[in-house]
Amino acid sequence: MQIIKLKKHMKQATFIYSIITLIILFGMQSCSKTTTNTKPAYVIAIHGGAGNALRKDISEEQQKDYIKHLEQALHIGEKILSEGGTCIEAIEKTINYLEDCPLFNAGKGSVFTHEGHNELDASIMQGKDLNAGAVAGVGDIKNPISAAILVMNKSKHVMMAGNGASVFAKKQGLEMVDSSYFYTERRWNSLQKVLKSKKYGTVGCVALDKEGNLAAGTSTGGMTNKMYNRIGDSPIIGAGTYANNNTCAVSATGHGEFFIRYTVAHDISTLMEYKNMSLYDAANLVVNKKLVDAKGNGGVIAVDKNGNVATIFNTNMMFRAYVKSNGEKDVKIFK
Ligand code: ASP
Repeated sequence: MQIIKLKKHMKQATFIYSIITLIILFGMQSCSKTTTNTKPAYVIAIHGGAGNALRKDISEEQQKDYIKHLEQALHIGEKILSEGGTCIEAIEKTINYLEDCPLFNAGKGSVFTHEGHNELDASIMQGKDLNAGAVAGVGDIKNPISAAILVMNKSKHVMMAGNGASVFAKKQGLEMVDSSYFYTERRWNSLQKVLKSKKYGTVGCVALDKEGNLAAGTSTGGMTNKMYNRIGDSPIIGAGTYANNNTCAVSATGHGEFFIRYTVAHDISTLMEYKNMSLYDAANLVVNKKLVDAKGNGGVIAVDKNGNVATIFNTNMMFRAYVKSNGEKDVKIFK
């Protein structure tokens, strides 16, 4: 009798033990799923400029419109990367979309110089070999980022400016437009009303592709009311754009003169390289300490070689979005 009882207890104990083991194993599994920090296969991040507008300055409807276009641009780049396209292909098509959208200060929606002209700048850099291309002060190239990519791939130079850049782009078969193409009075006026305060609407894109390559691109109309032939940071490699497979890819937006003086994009990369800082710490130090101390407004988007993303700005807002192959995604305007 005693033995039968003992056997029964042992059976129960074994059963309970198995259940506990299963629970522990299951718990460990779901725990490791949430805590594993594996490198995503690809990442893309974009910005549509930073500025000091407050939430109340941009109507709900307009915020929705911006978000819609950021989402659409992000989707274009993500599709290319998910299908195995290169980071340069993804950046070109994503920025082309933003350049064609009159909401942003690049391509079609570019701001005006003091004299009422449009002088556009753009640059691209790839992290695998530090090759780069840029165009500055162009007024008749529909998509300056594509011209920058052609300078990188089809010329022996890094930067071309003004008329020479246009002649080159035309010879390479890029779509040229009349300067009136960039005139969008209705959009421009309504944007001015919305963004009463200083605004920087440049567009930029950084990406990590499935091959593990990083790249960054930036395209802009520059700053409103700028002097003739003024060139900002956006076409300057190391200031507004930088990429290095050993560290990160960065695209900046803001008051260009400060981003040139502080070689912002390259500084973030070097802090990672020489000081072993994380992407976030490096970008945060440059944007929220060095630039703030200098009174330089703006922000950056960046992705590092491990797929970490940093979107950092010292203004009230920055149009920004990113998506990773693991589904992590964010689309935002304000802090
Ligand atoms: N950084 C650009 C420039 O200074 C402007 C901007 O980002 O909106 O030309």
